[in-house]
Amino acid sequence: MSFSTLVKDELCRVELHNETCCMKSEIFGVILTGNLFSNEKNNRNIKMVTENAAFARRIYSTVRKVYGISPEVAIRRSSRLKKHVSYSVIFASMQLINKMLYDFGISAFSDKNNPAKKTLRKVCCKKSFLRAAFLSGGSISDPEKTYHLEISTRNCFCAELIRELLQEYGINVKIIVRKGNYVAYIKEGENIVDFLNIIGAHGALMELENVRILKDMRNSVNRIVNCETANLEKTVNASVRQVENIRFIRSSIGLDKLPENLVEIANLRLEYSEASLKELGEMLHPRLGKSGVNHRLRKLDEIADQLRDNLKRNTAK
Ligand SMILES: [Zn+2]
Repeated sequence: MSFSTLVKDELCRVELHNETCCMKSEIFGVILTGNLFSNEKNNRNIKMVTENAAFARRIYSTVRKVYGISPEVAIRRSSRLKKHVSYSVIFASMQLINKMLYDFGISAFSDKNNPAKKTLRKVCCKKSFLRAAFLSGGSISDPEKTYHLEISTRNCFCAELIRELLQEYGINVKIIVRKGNYVAYIKEGENIVDFLNIIGAHGALMELENVRILKDMRNSVNRIVNCETANLEKTVNASVRQVENIRFIRSSIGLDKLPENLVEIANLRLEYSEASLKELGEMLHPRLGKSGVNHRLRKLDEIADQLRDNLKRNTAK
């Protein structure tokens, strides 16, 4: 089951406790997001098509509860794939349509009529509207893969309304146009969690949080491992260079020409090429700290560089 289906199944079980205001807001959300107003002269109706049986049932019973009129329902099975079923909920009764439009602040079928926002004054109603918008046009990516939640609508006003409502909750929504649809989307994991909380998908929210925690843990473990590997590489590279330089000094002037403290560290480095600076320091008498050891080894690097320079100059003459 996809994560989207999981969220929608949960949303269809969210109880509205017979709050008429919220039930109306949910119907409003479905109709507006789906842009279900048919404006044909002889065929004025509102028709919702979905493959989600629970969603169809929810809208059917909500409309009947609020308006006391049952919508028509049609079930279609695609002929090729018998499993493919779609449900249409049709509001054909003019009486029902007029009642609904009045509630939403739309007096007649017209593209120019922007539904009044008076329907969505209360917090409970805003949440119901957003839930319906997601049920109608929403999808969410599997959080294991990526954080992406979107609501697609044919209605530009609806996309703007979704953005406005979510802005009130501090959720950052962007809108793009894709194949004639206005797609309002959320990218940040934290914003998606907030959205799921608002629309009441608390189970899905927990699921997503678990994935997020695991992902974060995996990332920080990777970061530590990468960091350690990088450090190890750095240490090994430095040691290889130091050993090379010490050997070069030995073969060109001999180590006994060096001050005693450098001879000591040079011999230790040759013997323990894999030891860390700290470990080398502990082998010295008296012991020496990491930076002291580093200082002496750098001195050896400088001497080797100088000797190479001299050699170059002499061969050039
Ligand atoms: Zn309400």
